[in-house]
Amino acid sequence: MTGIGAAFKLEPKYPEVPYEEKARLFAEIKADARYDDYLYGCYECGICVAACPSARYYDFSPRRIAQAAAREDVELIFEQIQEDIWDCSQCFSCLRCPRGNNPGGIITIMREVAVNNGLDSAREALKGYTRIIYKIMSTGTQVSPDMLQADAFPDWGPTVAATSENLELWRRALPPDTHHTTKTGWQISTKTLVELYLIWHKTGALDLISELDEGLHSLLEEVMEDLLEEEGYEL
Ligand code: SF4
Ligand code: SF4
Repeated sequence: MTGIGAAFKLEPKYPEVPYEEKARLFAEIKADARYDDYLYGCYECGICVAACPSARYYDFSPRRIAQAAAREDVELIFEQIQEDIWDCSQCFSCLRCPRGNNPGGIITIMREVAVNNGLDSAREALKGYTRIIYKIMSTGTQVSPDMLQADAFPDWGPTVAATSENLELWRRALPPDTHHTTKTGWQISTKTLVELYLIWHKTGALDLISELDEGLHSLLEEVMEDLLEEEGYEL
């Protein structure tokens, strides 16, 4: 290669894979029982884009997702699995599609296929959420405000450090008294926690974690198995 092309040779953003592999991933997406209910073609009207919060902040469009699926564009769908689908906030404002499509739902399926296949894009997208996943899956409850610390969320950028330093102050500025603490989380009963652990074991949700992060999987498995054994369950 010569001239400008040689000087500015772009590295591919993700590893190239054979077309057959891309087609296999798309076939897995289409085989999902929800798929036919989420896609009825596309008018290209852009209503979903106007409603989509992520489209305002990222180079992202639910219309592109619906169009790629409607046209069965295997190459584009593979590209979207690598990047676009991780920009969706899963708010489902795009459900106002006049064609009856559910672009957010198609994205849910695409994400599940990415996770199930242990794709690097899924690993990369979930890297910053390890502590959140651990907290939610081990305690059955939400992330509490005191977890908002810079070292826990390096991917949230520099503002998280300033926010975490003044967290007590920010909380006290909120009108309801119940929001003034940084420590409160819902209390989950042992019975509920056992049910959640069993669901995550039986549905394969825990196995999905092992595809993405073996260290996190071991930690979760240890916590869950200890409680399940205490409560008389053998896995
Ligand atoms: S679910 Fe995703 S695609 Fe749909 S409106 Fe929300 S952010 Fe946009
Ligand atoms: S709102 Fe529906 S029909 Fe219109 S562009 Fe979006 S997906 Fe297509």
